[in-house]
Amino acid sequence: MDRKRINDALDRHLRTAAERPSPSTSRGAKPKPPSAAAPKPKEQLDSDSSDEGGSAGGSSEADDTFWINWFCAMRGNEFFAEVDDDYIQDDFNLCGLSAQVPYYDHALDLILDLEPVQEDVFADDQNELVVASAEMLYGLIHARYILTTKGLAAMLEKFKNCDFGRCPRVSCSGQPCLPMGQSDIARTSTVKIYCPKCEDLYYPRSKHQANTDGAYFGTTFPHMFMMTHSQLKPQKPAQQYVPRIFGFKVQKKT
Ligand SMILES: [Zn+2]
Repeated sequence: MDRKRINDALDRHLRTAAERPSPSTSRGAKPKPPSAAAPKPKEQLDSDSSDEGGSAGGSSEADDTFWINWFCAMRGNEFFAEVDDDYIQDDFNLCGLSAQVPYYDHALDLILDLEPVQEDVFADDQNELVVASAEMLYGLIHARYILTTKGLAAMLEKFKNCDFGRCPRVSCSGQPCLPMGQSDIARTSTVKIYCPKCEDLYYPRSKHQANTDGAYFGTTFPHMFMMTHSQLKPQKPAQQYVPRIFGFKVQKKT
């Protein structure tokens, strides 16, 4: 999938949607429901699986949602944990999201692998919008999920695997980092990694990861994580780097 292209499509849609009443808050209000988009990720998985190392799976465990497996296995999505189906199926957990995500109902059906209600034929750009909306919806659900007990546990496994990368600062000695957003509002800024040792933010090393929306992780997550797993909180680095010229400390101008 061309991530940039569909994100641009979503941007365009959100811009025009802001100028008129939302078309996507209820199923009945949609002008052309693009329900035929639902099977699309399965086709994409077939074509993408060769460069994903075949780890996407999806067929081994019947309980798992195919789309979620596919999405989390996509290159650049390594920071995402797999959200439980049960969590997504509980309407309470999705409160307020229908107003933020275009084609909300279709995006939700896509995430949960539900068959579309009607088998209409839709334009490619609408399919792309539903795919982009599904990504946005999953991201916003994800930001909430990783603050729950189950979500924190899933992220703990990923932290232990160093899935979020390490702090680039020399004095942090390769401290594993945590993903976070600088805003909880979607499409504000991209994801950053937070080092619990020097307590600073960095850009992710992979450009694929760096394009991910920071709101899909949120501003609270790393701090909630460190509070929950306080035994993992590292000591602050002892030594501070001192600039020297020919061995002498550089005099600070006063
Ligand atoms: Zn650090």
